Amino acid sequence: MIQNGTDVSFAAKCIREGGLVAFPTETVYGLGADALNPQAVARIFEVKQRPTFDPLIVHISEIYQLEMLFDDLISPLVNKITEAFWPGPLTIVHRKSIKVPDIVTSGLNTVAVRMPSHPVALELIRLAQTPVAAPSANRFGQLSPTKPEHVLKQLSGIDYLLTGNQKMVGIESTVISIEDDQCFLLRPGAISLSDIQKVVPCVYFNQSKKGKDLPSPGLLKSHYSPNKPLYILKQDIHSLPLDSGLILHHKADLPTNAPNIIYTSGNRSQIEIAANLFTALHTMEDDPTISQIYIEPVEEFGLGIAIMDRIKKAAFRYTGHCE
Ligand code: AMP
Ligand code: MG
Repeated sequence: MIQNGTDVSFAAKCIREGGLVAFPTETVYGLGADALNPQAVARIFEVKQRPTFDPLIVHISEIYQLEMLFDDLISPLVNKITEAFWPGPLTIVHRKSIKVPDIVTSGLNTVAVRMPSHPVALELIRLAQTPVAAPSANRFGQLSPTKPEHVLKQLSGIDYLLTGNQKMVGIESTVISIEDDQCFLLRPGAISLSDIQKVVPCVYFNQSKKGKDLPSPGLLKSHYSPNKPLYILKQDIHSLPLDSGLILHHKADLPTNAPNIIYTSGNRSQIEIAANLFTALHTMEDDPTISQIYIEPVEEFGLGIAIMDRIKKAAFRYTGHCE
């Protein structure tokens, strides 16, 4: 059993000594190690069974730490973006300094950095006195964890699980890349493209146009998947097999005899859907009476773009296509 609790000082000591700590952020639970210690970072890949071509996000607590991570020629856009969105669920990819070990960036000459807004995460990084590399605290390809029990279910071999009970956004950070005076959206997330465009001109990077040259190796089509079939709901819910789980986002007065329904929201609130999406999928995954899961799609605007991105990725393994 993994040792867990709310002892931030102990968790920070683990990080300083090269250990692995799972900790809450405002997006999902992260699995952190000292970003400047390659051996410690290597253990993240081992514990998560994550391929080493998938680079990690480095988490900081103070803006001056960027100087250590980004190269000397920091783009002026970085300032504008960090002032507007940090601390918060936005990750910036930028050319890296030589201090960042290759294992963190999968050998790329860029590094992804964010300053989380969750008070426990910030305190952990501050006390650890080092930037903390942290992907989500799940096994590679499986559902992201939004509760301590999701971490315990999926991982072993970590030194401490730091718990916290603040509300989470529930989906991962938005990832943008800044190259000189250009900004690209690499992964939709908690902060929408239109929010970013209010601060700097930013374009959506369309993966399919660039073929194999993905700027973001982690942007796999299949990701965040439950371990039983998941389908995006197209048909009438009355025709579903009885051993189905059904995830809906609106408590409409649908006359249904489906036994297993989870509502992520009462009225299609995007914030509620995002916050409850992974928890709903975990609950369905854990229910032995459910053989397959159906999920209602959401409209793709604002936060809905990131929500649908996660739903399509979770279903991709079972449907073979993104739609
Ligand atoms: P997560 O697995 O949720 O921690 O997200 C990390 C993701 O950030 C990776 O899978 C990549 O998609 C993206 N990322 C991290 N570092 C870089 C980088 N140097 N260049 C481009 N994308 C990156
Ligand atoms: Mg992840």
